[in-house]
This record gives sequence, C-alpha cells and structure tokens, in this order.
Amino acid sequence: MTSLNDLPIRDDLRGREPYGAPQLDVPVRLNTNENPYPPSPELVKALGDAVAEVASSLNRYPDRDAVALRADLADFLNRDTPGADLTAERVWAANGSNEVIQQILQAFGGPGRTALGFEPSYSMHPIIAHVTGTRWINAQRDEDFGLDPGKAVAAIEEHRPDVVFLTSPNNPTGTALPLEAIEAVLAAAPGMVVVDEAYGEFRREDTLSALELLPEHPRLIVTRTMSKAFAMAGTRLGYLAADPAVIEALLLVRLPYHLSSVTQAVARTALAYADELLGSVDTLRAERDLLVGWLRSQGLRVADSDANFVLFGTFPDRRRVWQAMLDRGVLIREVGPPQWLRVTVGTSAEMAAFRSALTTALKETQ
Ligand code: PMP
Repeated sequence: MTSLNDLPIRDDLRGREPYGAPQLDVPVRLNTNENPYPPSPELVKALGDAVAEVASSLNRYPDRDAVALRADLADFLNRDTPGADLTAERVWAANGSNEVIQQILQAFGGPGRTALGFEPSYSMHPIIAHVTGTRWINAQRDEDFGLDPGKAVAAIEEHRPDVVFLTSPNNPTGTALPLEAIEAVLAAAPGMVVVDEAYGEFRREDTLSALELLPEHPRLIVTRTMSKAFAMAGTRLGYLAADPAVIEALLLVRLPYHLSSVTQAVARTALAYADELLGSVDTLRAERDLLVGWLRSQGLRVADSDANFVLFGTFPDRRRVWQAMLDRGVLIREVGPPQWLRVTVGTSAEMAAFRSALTTALKETQ
C-alpha cells in the first residue's frame, strides 16, 4: 500500500490536513451556513428544464467567458446596491467564491508575494494563499471582532502586502465593517483589497456593501456567492465585482471552460428566481435576531451578527458542548476563537431544536 508520505508531494503540503467541516447525517445541520430552505417545486421544474435545454448541446464546450451569466449577476448586484453601476465587464464568476479567491491569488499573489488578513476570519483565505504559494500574514481583529482603522492601517504599512483580505460580514464572527474602515484600508494598501461579502445579503439595514466603493477604487474586489442567501450551495457559483482591468487579469489564470454549461444554466435560472430565493432572507434575519436575544438571555456572550450565523460562548471546553449538542442530533461548528461555537440560523423548527439541545447541553456540561 502506498501512503501519501511515499509520494513526491510538495514539501510544504506534507503533514497538512484537508479542509472540511464534518458532513454528518444528523436531523439538524447548522454547521456550514447554508440557507435551510430548498428550492420550490416550481423552481425545481425550471431548473430541470434549463438543464434539459443545455443537455442537447453538451458535446460542445460552454461559453468560456460566461457572458450572459455575468450580465445577469451584474443586474442582480445593481438591484442590491444601486449606484454600483455594474456590467458584465465588471463581474466575474467561478465555481464557488473559493475558486474566485484562488484565481485572485493566482493573479495577484503567488511566490514571492504576500497576502494579509485580520483574524479570526474565514480559514480558507490562508489555506488558498498557501496553496497558491502566497505567504500569509496574520493580523488581528479587535477584542470585539471589529477592526480599528488605525490598527489596520498600521498592519498594512508594516507588512506592505500585495493582497489584503477583509471579510464583511466576517465568518465566523458575523461582524460587518463600516465603509470607513474599508476606505482606510484602501487608502493604505499598496496592492489589491478583497472584501469577501459571502454573507452580504444578510447585512442589517444600516450596514452598507463595499460595492458602493467600487466606482472610485480600481484595486478593490468584492466577492459574493450564491451558496448562502441565494440558497444554491450545491450549484457552486461564486462571483466578484471589480474594475474591468481586474477581470482581464483573472482571464490569464482561469482554466479554459471552467464554468460548465450546466452550472451556467442553473445559475441563470436561479437568478431569474432571485425574488423567491432571497425571500427567505428576511425570515432568516429575524430568526437570527431572536437567536442573539435568546443566547444573551441565557447569560452567554454573543457577537453582533450581520450574517446567517451567530458566534457564541464562552466555554472552557467547547468540544464538550459541541458533542453534547451532536448527541441530541444538532450539528453546530467548532470554529473560531478557542472558547466559542458557531451556529447557522435554520428554520424556526430547527432553532427550537437548537435551543432545547443547548439548554440541556449547558446543564450537562456545567
Ligand atoms: N467566503 C466566506 C467568508 C465563506 O464563509 C465561504 C463559505 N464558507 C466562502 C467564501 C466560500 O463559499 P463558496 O465557495 O461556497 O462560494
């Protein structure tokens, strides 16, 4: 039997663990920030029809530049943030925003270059940096998981990174950044600034999207995904908005025909049903705010959330609480700062199951 260690794998990959949250078959899955509502029967039918339509030409490669899909995504973003003034030339799409981020680092990072992020944040940013040969620099968020503009600028001036990552709303804390903090980073950064808005559609009323800043900032990239609010995680469709020159750079690194005809057709159909798919966002936001209130009423610490998940704690031994929840069929996520746990907002029935399991788990583990 050959083991991984017998292979001439890259030295820097030896001993590494693959990324991945446990995919367990339990009744209540609140661990990967998915939208709990499946597509309606009408949308399922429309998706089937769209796939049937492209099926007859699957002998051909897809549109390599996914122009029609990018135009639809631009329309969607213009509805989200009027004034962003986006067109297909300013939007790019790939298989999930993870692939978008990988392409950004292939184009703007790489050997001899650095990327900087403020932690705790999305753990794939440093992993993708590593895999693309980009050196990762770990700066810190504040105690309350926010980002003091002065400190952020100081970290950027010290390290002069080629790429800066800001996640807003941040995973796993839920914290959104005010536009002033993003503008301060843009003014100080010598290279590209990526604002990862995977959870952007869940933001609270007075939180603005970094899309607002695009017209003035050619080195700003805002990434989004259809995996979260859009309830299409299985489709694998992530995208970004940026200056057309940025898209030209990404064309240099993308693999030819990276987005299958099926993906493009499914994503375009989902976009045509955006109102239905995003119809659950208000419900999820309301459920999130109730959840924050309930957790606080239990005497727990809870980070303010602009996302579809909540970080709560603190537990001397979070693994015990996580396991006690799992024993009751509720899967949450052990992620982020050591004494905290993260729960994704589900349906109201799922949240009732969560509250009941946590009440028992807290008694048991005290
Ligand atoms: N960015 C953030 C902050 C995320 O939390 C996630 C998903 N966990 C992603 C990007 C990637 O999502 P996807 O590849 O499904 O678009």
